[in-house]
Amino acid sequence: MTKDDGSPYKVYTPFYKRWLVHGWRAPANDPISWPKWWAPENDGLPARPDVGDVVLPPAGEQAALARWKDFLANNVDAYDENRNRPDLAGTSKLGTALKWGEIHPRTLLAQLGDQQGQEVFRKEIAWREFYADVLFHNPDTVENYLNPLYAQMKYDTGPVADERFKAWCDGKTGYPFVDAGMRQLNTEGWMHNRVRMVVASFLIKDLHLEWQRGAQYFMKLLLDGDLASNSHGWQWTAGCGTDASPYYRVFNPIGQGQRFDPQGDYVRKYIPELRHIPDGSVHEPWTVLGGLDHGYPEPIVDHALERKEALARLAALPKGTQLPPKSRAEPEPNQAILIHDFE
Ligand SMILES: Cc1cc2nc3c(=O)[nH]c(=O)nc-3n(C[C@H](O)[C@H](O)[C@H](O)COP(=O)(O)OP(=O)(O)OC[C@H]3O[C@@H](n4cnc5c(N)ncnc54)[C@H](O)[C@@H]3O)c2cc1C
Repeated sequence: MTKDDGSPYKVYTPFYKRWLVHGWRAPANDPISWPKWWAPENDGLPARPDVGDVVLPPAGEQAALARWKDFLANNVDAYDENRNRPDLAGTSKLGTALKWGEIHPRTLLAQLGDQQGQEVFRKEIAWREFYADVLFHNPDTVENYLNPLYAQMKYDTGPVADERFKAWCDGKTGYPFVDAGMRQLNTEGWMHNRVRMVVASFLIKDLHLEWQRGAQYFMKLLLDGDLASNSHGWQWTAGCGTDASPYYRVFNPIGQGQRFDPQGDYVRKYIPELRHIPDGSVHEPWTVLGGLDHGYPEPIVDHALERKEALARLAALPKGTQLPPKSRAEPEPNQAILIHDFE
């Protein structure tokens, strides 16, 4: 999709408004007859792989339709309230089916009304469309900075950085909300959106690693791994992506846990070493008597200090001369970068 002057959209909200006006076709009808190669009697398909004890999520169009039906009946109305809570089953979990073409966005859009939860869900589908559009117009941004100014930021490399990256991958940073997310990814191939933002912010702003390292790790494990949504989800969090104003977002890994997993149920589910802590104090186990007695590590960095360090690196970026070319990012020269703390 392009603007009236033929240039691509770089900011979500104007894209969304145009997308609504443009509209979409109705879902395709079923074929009159099924192609022979897809007929159930065909035994040319490979046998089901032996995956041991692993429980794979149901796959295929029928499973996706059943999940959608269930979400419409039970969750969509409260989606706007619950979608940020990883301790609740508040989202559709249809990302994998969308990624693999088991269900079409048009099928979803055709059944959405104007109730608040349905409206918010439509907006999320539009984010997927928007990022696909951004990647279509900027194909190198799978791995390159949409706003190249940020390629000049100081990032950490070397043995200590590698050790920290490994702790992040393994879910052993000592920050329970971050670690629960990474362990969910490692065991289920999926992570809740709120936690994706927090672990991504932690990698970039607390560990000072480049976003591409995390994005590659996500792509290796996510069942819904999608080049456009993944790279641009990471770039949005890093601050170098699609924003009307240049934002530098820093998520507080403790505060986010306390806010979106208030009783600590999500953390305890994925971190057995913390199951002896019964309530929300599980987000700061070092403050609980005996909290670290079952092998859970101390924080590998101090968030308050690393936040300051991240802002110092931001302030050290060259001003004026190194602005993003007009063809890429929307911000005007010398526009102040807004610091946004997510407590
Ligand atoms: C760092 C990072 C990496 C991400 N990587 C991916 C990825 O590889 N693949 C992917 O599909 N999504 C990605 N997302 C977006 C989002 O986290 C997932 O789409 C969502 O968690 C999937 O769960 P769900 O199907 O239950 O979502 P729901 O909340 O039920 O949303 C419905 C659908 O809307 C779309 N959607 C929702 N939020 C977003 C979003 N922020 N950006 C783009 N599409 C969205 C997805 O297709 C999703 O399935 C990423 C987000 C971040 C912050």
